[in-house]
Amino acid sequence: MIDRKDFHRHAPDITKWIQQYFDQLEELPVKSQVAPGAIYKQIPDQMPQSGEPLESILQDMDRIILPGMTHWQHPNFHAYFPANSSVESVYAEMMTAAMGAQCMIWETSPAAAELEERMMEWLQRAMGIPKDWEGVIQDTASSATLVAILTAREKVTNFEANENGVPPNLRVYCSTQTHSSIEKAVKIAGIGRKNLVKIPVDEQMRMRPDALDAQIQQDMESGYLPCCVVTAVGTTGTVAVDPIPEISAICARHNVWHHIDAAYAGSALILPEYQWMIEGMEQADSFVFNPHKWLFTNFDCTAYYVKDADMLVRTFDILPEYLKTRTRGQVNDYRDWGIPLGRRFRALKLWFVMRSFGLKGMQERLRQHIVLNTQFAEWVEQSENFELLLPPFLNFTCFRFRPDGQTEEALNALNQALVERVNQRGKLFLTHTKIEDRYVLRMVIGQTYVEARHVEAAWAEIRSVAAELNLHAQ
Ligand SMILES: *Cc1c(COP(=O)(O)O)cnc(C)c1O
Repeated sequence: MIDRKDFHRHAPDITKWIQQYFDQLEELPVKSQVAPGAIYKQIPDQMPQSGEPLESILQDMDRIILPGMTHWQHPNFHAYFPANSSVESVYAEMMTAAMGAQCMIWETSPAAAELEERMMEWLQRAMGIPKDWEGVIQDTASSATLVAILTAREKVTNFEANENGVPPNLRVYCSTQTHSSIEKAVKIAGIGRKNLVKIPVDEQMRMRPDALDAQIQQDMESGYLPCCVVTAVGTTGTVAVDPIPEISAICARHNVWHHIDAAYAGSALILPEYQWMIEGMEQADSFVFNPHKWLFTNFDCTAYYVKDADMLVRTFDILPEYLKTRTRGQVNDYRDWGIPLGRRFRALKLWFVMRSFGLKGMQERLRQHIVLNTQFAEWVEQSENFELLLPPFLNFTCFRFRPDGQTEEALNALNQALVERVNQRGKLFLTHTKIEDRYVLRMVIGQTYVEARHVEAAWAEIRSVAAELNLHAQ
């Protein structure tokens, strides 16, 4: 055990390790190359009886742990959606860990509660979220969406579900493209997966308002109680943006909660030119986005906004004797704004990031990612053997390898082989999605420090692997 007064003795080893990690990051394979079980086998089956020196722990960090890491902060991490970070965010996390505060109520750290309130206001103003909404930090978008659906459930049952259990006739709606977290939330909320209705999408993968309206109408006539509609601003597969004004109007007309899942694309709302994505949201009820995806703040940090915070707090509040405090009603006890009682001090890293970057600095970075993506999509479009499946949007391009004279089936196999070989070679990491049975590649350019040279190298690598595969195919 290390005494607290000796913190500084090893701290330089740790910061040196981190600096070296950053310096060698571009040389490491982006996707971990280890076989399943390889790390587990190297860890003893019991904890040590006596304490070990920090030196040997650090050695094993390099020897065992590092090869088993996929490097999310590598500039050529183009898979899934990013979970980007920044030096500022890392500094703040170190200090958060040092203070180790558990920020469940105002009294357990007033600075955490009040900084959180301010940070949510800063983002709200920068992003064009309606002024009378209130925000709270949650761990993930999955939790925030669960919170939205639970609040909707209580609103529509007049708080009966909390009291007596969930009636069997509630219904929740999302599109066929929305994230799996909605299905998970509906299961956890006791509404039942059968009562999640997936509404068809148009050719741009956006929820069809006419189909939603007809479904709600029909359900009400059949005795169901429509509870919540979840729309997406940026779907996971293809970053489609559902038509918020039309759907908000339908929800308002039927008195159904409207939750907007902008987990990924929400960060782009700090750019005025993208605020059209949430036009009409004044009529909606709740909104979530993840600064931990594309806003330089390391995982986890989710911003959840709600129009009627009283409804939210009434859904979640509990008041055991030991939590009754004098300040109730004057300040926010965020314990009542979500699921866990205990809460990390997540506002601190947002504060570090937003102050050190400034709004302009964050906007410049995002715009640069968008420019790099536009460039990448142009290369794809101009190349003979590749095609775009959708117009590029934000920092996302959907494309595939398409040499002449191949059947759709052969193209699917070829693109699958392409992703696997690219990822195995380790210079970049890509993932795929399916559009109408076509296996397509997703390119996301969102790592904080990515530059043109990285995207150029990625494109060269993709073409080189494709050429290799094509020779084999012929
Ligand atoms: C990433 C994502 C989620 C899930 O986010 P978590 O914070 O990991 O729970 C939900 N919805 C969309 C649209 C996403 O992109």
